[in-house]
Amino acid sequence: MRLKLAPGLAIKNSTIEGKGCFSVAHCRRGRKIAEYTGEKITNAEANRRASRRRLRICAINNRWSLDGSRGGNGTHYINHSCEPSAYMKILYGRILFIALRDIKPGDEITIDYEQTLHSNKKRCTCGAPSCRGTINKMQR
Ligand SMILES: [Zn+2]
Repeated sequence: MRLKLAPGLAIKNSTIEGKGCFSVAHCRRGRKIAEYTGEKITNAEANRRASRRRLRICAINNRWSLDGSRGGNGTHYINHSCEPSAYMKILYGRILFIALRDIKPGDEITIDYEQTLHSNKKRCTCGAPSCRGTINKMQR
């Protein structure tokens, strides 16, 4: 299946991990970058699929998730960073990416995953000065 990218996005090799999602346009702070798309699955199914090495699943609520590896628009390549350029906002069952700062063409779009289906031991390789060392944010 050919990947249909959301407008304004490009997929390129990332210095963080594997391939990443990059902006090809200017995006002002606070503006929507794109919407996350994918196959709608139950969270039980999401947990079953979590054993895959590359996880492209994003939770909408305590019942549903989207799996961007099927029907994703490029936003499923957005990498984690401890100093992200964007954040995820869930609005009426839709998952939106909003710019945390002004984004220039060529900038990698990153978010702080905070909680994933990955183990809490999974190391972070984002390289940010304030990197916390793991992908998941530990609950205190
Ligand atoms: Zn990090």
